[in-house]
Amino acid sequence: MEKIRMTTPLVEMDGDEMTRILWGWIKEILIEPYVELKTEYYDLGLPNRDATEDRVTAESAEATKKYGVAVKCATITPNAQRMTEYNLHQMWKSPNGTIRRILDGTVFRAPILCKGIRPYIPGWKKPIVLARHAYGDIYNAVDERVEEGSKTYLVVTDKDGKEVSRRLIHDFKGSAGIVQGMHNRDDSIRSFAHSCFRYALEENISMYFATKDTISKVYDRRFKDIFAEVYESDYRAAFEAKGLEYLYTLIDDAVARVVRSEGGILWACKNYDGDVMSDMVATAYGSLGMMTSVLVSPDGKYEYEAAHGTVTRHYYKYLKGETTSTNSVATIFAWTGALRKRGELDGNTDLVAFADRLEGATVRTIEEGEMTGDLVSLFSSEGVTAKKLDSRAFLQAIAKRM
Ligand code: NAP
Ligand code: MG
Repeated sequence: MEKIRMTTPLVEMDGDEMTRILWGWIKEILIEPYVELKTEYYDLGLPNRDATEDRVTAESAEATKKYGVAVKCATITPNAQRMTEYNLHQMWKSPNGTIRRILDGTVFRAPILCKGIRPYIPGWKKPIVLARHAYGDIYNAVDERVEEGSKTYLVVTDKDGKEVSRRLIHDFKGSAGIVQGMHNRDDSIRSFAHSCFRYALEENISMYFATKDTISKVYDRRFKDIFAEVYESDYRAAFEAKGLEYLYTLIDDAVARVVRSEGGILWACKNYDGDVMSDMVATAYGSLGMMTSVLVSPDGKYEYEAAHGTVTRHYYKYLKGETTSTNSVATIFAWTGALRKRGELDGNTDLVAFADRLEGATVRTIEEGEMTGDLVSLFSSEGVTAKKLDSRAFLQAIAKRM
């Protein structure tokens, strides 16, 4: 069989632990037999990040800016324990954080659905994609405890340092308490809005955005207004032409609508709402191993990955020579997402078709009862018995169906 050729390289970001093992096997068993794989390889495994003083992470993000599409393996974010385990020179920052800062992107998370793996919310038939604004609000807030009798103020100075306003937040008469100050930026909110509208259009799905602007009349209202402005100026015509809807509503109403919906929507969330709701949505769909994630920059650069981590517990078993049954579906879909996007950008229909075929074979493998351990207890399908395969056998079961 002649292999599918690629014109532009993918940016390949390798990673750590069990997902690094899966990474190699996915390429060997599912991609390289069919595709003349062309990648620009960056080793984001922790030993190489340490050896390059983490320059490799920034370089891989710069390469993503240059080529437009990247695929990333899960990576360790070092903590104190990892400092000793890997004998690190420094506690390097989260690679995802670094890449997100350089690409200024928004993260979209979408579940992979299979017949037999039923969501905890039975009405959900299609994916709910969640977009989280990953800047500001309480994640960059300052807060303090204050003593009884204190007064707290919100003070604003202009660019020359002159005070332009001073408002009492609270007079702590009779009780000590707490106070918090947070912010967001128009430019960040605007680029978040662009990323969301663009994603919804590309995926052909309607979009919800929600805040609490009835209570937060200036802060949340600003989010609502910027989204409305961006929608009117750049996206309304395209949405209407495709019959898609953009709905702005209150966050509590959005939660109720999402639960009642059958899915098939992009749900854009402020930072905190997205933090909480993405765990709710991921869990409700069944398994972390079935959730993909893509970082999209406002100027249309893409980085695909799995939403889970490096699955450390399984890796330690693997190192002892034991077999593991680690779910590789989200990592496979990171590859297919990236290959499909590369194919679309290059007009390479064979590559797009390959991505579709690999995704189809992966879903069919599970639907026909062959799956990794994490899915077995969730699976129930008339006439099909779930069989647990080890990590490598699962990939071979997919290859058989290719
Ligand atoms: P994790 O790797 O996602 O794993 C947590 C647990 O979830 C696993 O022990 C396993 O449960 C289950 N699990 C997750 N993915 C699975 C899969 N594909 N197949 C089967 N089971 C799966 O999270 P963590 O243990 O908190 O973090 C490990 C490392 O990953 C950390 O160093 C962290 O910094 C890093 N991390 C990286 C990313 C990223 O690069 N995007 C994201 C999150 C975490 P059982 O043990 O019960 O089988
Ligand atoms: Mg969370």
